[in-house]
Amino acid sequence: MQLKHTELFRQHCLINGEWADSENGEREDVINPAMGAVIGSVPQITPAQAALVITYAEQAQVGWREKTGKQRAAVMQKWAQLMLEHADDLAALLTAEQGKPLAEAKGEIVYAASFIEWFAEEAKRVEGSVLAPVQASQRMLVLKQPIGVCAAITPWNFPAAMITRKAAPALAAGCAMIVKPAEQTPLSALALGQLAVEAGIPAGVLQVITGSAQDVGKVLCASPVVRKLSFTGSTEVGRILMAQSAPTVKKLSLELGGNAPFIVFDDANLERAVAGIMASKFRNSGQTCVCANRIYVQQGIYPALVKRLVEEVEKLKVGEGSQTGVTQGPLIDDAAVSKVREHLDDALSHGATILTGGQPHALGGTFFQPTVVGGVTSAMKFAREETFGPVAPVFSFADEAQVVAMANDTEFGLAAYLFTRDAARQWRVPEALEYGMVGINTGLISNEVAPFGGIKQSGLGREGSRHGMDDYLEMKYLCIELG
Ligand code: ADP
Repeated sequence: MQLKHTELFRQHCLINGEWADSENGEREDVINPAMGAVIGSVPQITPAQAALVITYAEQAQVGWREKTGKQRAAVMQKWAQLMLEHADDLAALLTAEQGKPLAEAKGEIVYAASFIEWFAEEAKRVEGSVLAPVQASQRMLVLKQPIGVCAAITPWNFPAAMITRKAAPALAAGCAMIVKPAEQTPLSALALGQLAVEAGIPAGVLQVITGSAQDVGKVLCASPVVRKLSFTGSTEVGRILMAQSAPTVKKLSLELGGNAPFIVFDDANLERAVAGIMASKFRNSGQTCVCANRIYVQQGIYPALVKRLVEEVEKLKVGEGSQTGVTQGPLIDDAAVSKVREHLDDALSHGATILTGGQPHALGGTFFQPTVVGGVTSAMKFAREETFGPVAPVFSFADEAQVVAMANDTEFGLAAYLFTRDAARQWRVPEALEYGMVGINTGLISNEVAPFGGIKQSGLGREGSRHGMDDYLEMKYLCIELG
């Protein structure tokens, strides 16, 4: 990995504007999941250091919140611009630590920068309101103010975008943000920190710390100074963080697991439906929380759709993300491969059939063959748990009422998709689906303009869109008695 801007390869934490090591010298290796090679290491900061980081954030927030939205927007725009200027380097770094194909990594950088640009614009539009008074002698107003010091704990599947989607609204609102990236992918986070410094984001306003998730997480949750925690990751860890945040009644944004149903009705455009499945299921080798996890195909179209899907899946090219033409990188680690195998074995033991793939890839390591499984039923793990891998399990269904019931039969409620040409159904089914986001005749729905988030146990709050700002603002009601 050769970077043009060599300073983007940072192996220290960004603490109060300085690049710092762990006070006890402990470090953790960063591994390239494609080859298993060590590509760098990052500090394991101590709980005492994490506590100091919170103090720096508290101090930095004072000056930052006093700036106008326009002033904050100017530095943020610069940050986004630097990301785009250095997109090739950032993508190379991202692929090296995460494994996704370079084109996808570059797409993620552009997507990540779009959140900064969007929220920089929104920084100028934080508006309160004047209410109609209930007494003639009174005036009533609502102010919007930054919530205070915020923390973000982010996952490895989008090492850049999950940071900017949280840090950008926080900074735009006038909050200071402490980012704790996933252990697997800290280098992208530190590179974003470097560009934030170059853009002129003041010391302490954005800090990036690496170390034990449990230890750092506990310090962040326990601190009354940290007023808000935004987390993207598993539902299991989300529950832990929610419990740890209870004593300080912290505001929470949680973007947790999904179990996305992807429904194809008989009247769908078959080619568009197959393209939608490919985009939704196989992006990032199936490792996104909005990836199609359960593909429900109506009986009439089932044989034709499965045949076309297998043909498309067989065209995918597995390999190291940095190589030209590769569309499927490795899975993040051995545990990810074990989960895929466990779900496949469970399905096979319950009568499902592998239509293509189904085995670890000949490249070895954590590479896995893109797979299609037919004859999947509600009795299988595929129906209940997120597989988070390149496996498309296909169920069949008879009618609309049945598939809506099957789609909703989960504790999750993040994203759902349906393909149909029936205009009434394009309204009726999304309204009946218990999900925060529904794609209709499309398998790709995420962008900075839309409110991203789930219902049920998929989480709390929304990211992106103008609603994404509200999660970082408090309302203050003023009631003035005129003299
Ligand atoms: P995944 O299964 O996708 O790795 P996790 O929920 O385990 O999802 O991880 C998402 C993020 O949460 C990562 O940054 C990880 O370091 C962090 N994390 C994991 N366990 C804890 C914990 N107990 N406290 C705080 N953060 C945690």
